[in-house]
Amino acid sequence: MLSLDLTGKRAFVAGVGDNKGYGWAIVRALAQAGASVRVGTWPPMLNIFIKSMERGKFDLSLPGGGEIEFEKIHPMDAVFDTPEDVPEEIREDKRYRNLTGYTIQEVADSLRDELGEGCLDILVHALANGPEVKKPLIETSRAGYLEAVSASAFSMVSMVQRFGPLMREGGAVVSLTYLAGERVIPGYGGGMSSAKAALENDTRTLAFEAGRRWGIRVNTISAGPLASRAAKAIGKIDRMIDYYRANSPLPDVNTAEDVGNAAVFLCSPLSAAITGETLHVDMGYHAMGMPAEDQLGGE
Ligand code: NAD
Repeated sequence: MLSLDLTGKRAFVAGVGDNKGYGWAIVRALAQAGASVRVGTWPPMLNIFIKSMERGKFDLSLPGGGEIEFEKIHPMDAVFDTPEDVPEEIREDKRYRNLTGYTIQEVADSLRDELGEGCLDILVHALANGPEVKKPLIETSRAGYLEAVSASAFSMVSMVQRFGPLMREGGAVVSLTYLAGERVIPGYGGGMSSAKAALENDTRTLAFEAGRRWGIRVNTISAGPLASRAAKAIGKIDRMIDYYRANSPLPDVNTAEDVGNAAVFLCSPLSAAITGETLHVDMGYHAMGMPAEDQLGGE
């Protein structure tokens, strides 16, 4: 029987700060498949994430029995590669000043120190940030644009650079992108659409470079809309979900679980020949060229 079993594999999932987003759904699916999971949590979210978990606010139970057990929760801020990059005001910020080792290089080093080389099979990038996301691109500042690309696209390059050497051959990297990287999505501004386009292009280049260097695969999932914390902050997410339901080939919207399952597939030997791919998990919405809801050709 064909099985999807990740027992004995270790995953690091960056971008988990609550139980509402795609990162959490991917953790859940990886744990269900038997992988051991570590997460990287943005320092401003760390305390509330840990407290919510301790207070039992998150359902950790897995279908079929067992519970999600985090091997470790690492603070990680993906806009900083090394300690030298962290400005004074961040180091002194109350959400950071009691933490150490939260740059990407330091997190990778802590895995190496604790577990040794070849300790990682799966790397997930489930994070994004664009301070001017609500501004149309045409009104976006240079600083806002560069921050969006730094947090949402270069962070992926940096993670592959720094975690890649720790990964076992056959390992897999997965990130999350959005249709705005290839088509116009009004309202997804601030350079975030540019960051997603960069992320998708970098997926192809990193697939080649990391494939040749370490024998690992790099793919990205283009997911449909989900009412995560980040998406709610952008706004109009409920309207977008309704729009997908009305207009997708499969007339519904994907769930977070659908994306978690696709991520597990992309991290498993079942996808051993797939790399450099943007996989749409959106009920087929990306294939549409005209809304179905206006009845011009829909049913
Ligand atoms: P989310 O709020 O669950 O996840 C975003 C995470 O990024 C948060 O945990 C946040 O703390 C973290 N983060 C922000 N800045 C960071 C930084 N500098 N360093 C480390 N972590 C940082 O929201 P989500 O919507 O599930 O987002 C996860 C991914 O899915 C993102 O890449 C997002 O663009 C993508 N995505 C989301 C949707 C959607 O509709 N929700 C659709 C397609 C793609």
